[in-house]
Amino acid sequence: MNLNQKPLSVCLSLLFLAALLWLVPLGRTQSQKHLAVYAPATLYSVPITPMDGHDYVGLADALEPLGTVEAREDGKKWKLRFTPSGGREVDAEFQDGKNKGKVRGQDFELSGNFHMENGRGYVPLHNLGSMLPMFVGLSSEFRESALRLLLGNVTIHFNQEVQKGTPSKLVLTFSSPVNPMVATEPGRLRLVFRREPLVNSGPDNVQTGDTTIASTNYSENAGIPQFTVNSSVPLTAVFTDSNKTITITPAAPVTTATTEPATPPPPPPATTTTTTTTPTTPPAPPAPVSPRFLVVIDPAHGGDERGAAITDAIKEKDVNLAFARRLQHELQNKGMNAILLRSGDNTVGLDDRAIATNSAHPSLYLCVHAANLGTGMRIFTALMPPVGVNSRKFLPWQQAQSPFLDLSSQVAGSISAELSNRQIAVTALPAPLRPLRNVAAPAIALEMAPPEDEAEGISGTEYQQNIAAAVANGIAAMKTKLQGAR
Ligand SMILES: [Zn+2]
Repeated sequence: MNLNQKPLSVCLSLLFLAALLWLVPLGRTQSQKHLAVYAPATLYSVPITPMDGHDYVGLADALEPLGTVEAREDGKKWKLRFTPSGGREVDAEFQDGKNKGKVRGQDFELSGNFHMENGRGYVPLHNLGSMLPMFVGLSSEFRESALRLLLGNVTIHFNQEVQKGTPSKLVLTFSSPVNPMVATEPGRLRLVFRREPLVNSGPDNVQTGDTTIASTNYSENAGIPQFTVNSSVPLTAVFTDSNKTITITPAAPVTTATTEPATPPPPPPATTTTTTTTPTTPPAPPAPVSPRFLVVIDPAHGGDERGAAITDAIKEKDVNLAFARRLQHELQNKGMNAILLRSGDNTVGLDDRAIATNSAHPSLYLCVHAANLGTGMRIFTALMPPVGVNSRKFLPWQQAQSPFLDLSSQVAGSISAELSNRQIAVTALPAPLRPLRNVAAPAIALEMAPPEDEAEGISGTEYQQNIAAAVANGIAAMKTKLQGAR
């Protein structure tokens, strides 16, 4: 267990930005271009520097993540010795202002002159695709215009197939697991692959001749592959087969709550920190509640932690609690039992939140945040620390979410679809986020940003109610699956 427990003092919108930066390790400045390099054990980015009107990269920058680099100036010459991890050293030599040099004892002609600046050696980006393999002894696939360089046999291929029917669906199968960001907006669904060495061996533009799945497009922009599906109806993406298959189907129409036989109310969960609360809105007659289905709603922050400043007067912790109550009420109205992890303005640590959730054995954990950046909704699933790499460092506690990630993504997809149906902008993406990764149940975090219509604001009853209804519908559509998983 993490004894160095820190309150979540930054809010998710900051985390959202941090997650994007973390997912694409690009960048000191936004305007500087970077090359994304995918190697068998690592993904890294190399800054690109314009020189003589061409793109250049520091040769040591490009090699350092792959081994040990020693470089030195020797008069006008620049000498480099590279030792790949577990391999034999390779020497290279270039001269400032000259386009000829040596790598591994062989002549190497550059497409532009070598540059030496402050002891650093720069070569044209164009040459990197043929030069790096000489150092590391791996094959390379260089997509220069897309700023992507794939070293060794790391590529992930995919296949797309439209299965016609009522409704039609698009099935994407990948050669390795993928974890793209899913963005839905009216008329299209986008999968953004920020970490995967994805390549497309088929055509980039496909007209399907289908009315539901009209066309698809693959592109690589600034090092990031993106797959877009265009449709006349809202779409949703469902991940199966350990994230090797993504099925894109029309979002389910707004579902009516399934009523269940009347049963006595469930006993309170076996935890002292978990409390229930009564909704603040006038209670409608609740539908019968199933004791086997429990949603834990966690209003983030509270007490000493106020979260983001939504406005000078409105604190995030209060918005989170108000929305959590609304959502609890909405779920109960649809016959789903829901409890709140905090019902007052008290401070609760991240570990305590995860422990309380796990001892309640819920069907779903839902963390609620609010932000004043952007618009609409962001839905987060846990981005887990990689398994296998330094696996001794990651205790089961850090991996608690792993077996539930598939279902968590499916819940995120289902809620995204309901929000899209209501014309609310939504982005779903994985993020390295606590306590999601410590929760041993399907788990997502929601972050509510203000509506596009600024007049109402984030605290507007109609806006929050619309979102709460969409989230509850998205959960209702997944209820059977979530129950089956317990
Ligand atoms: Zn927050």
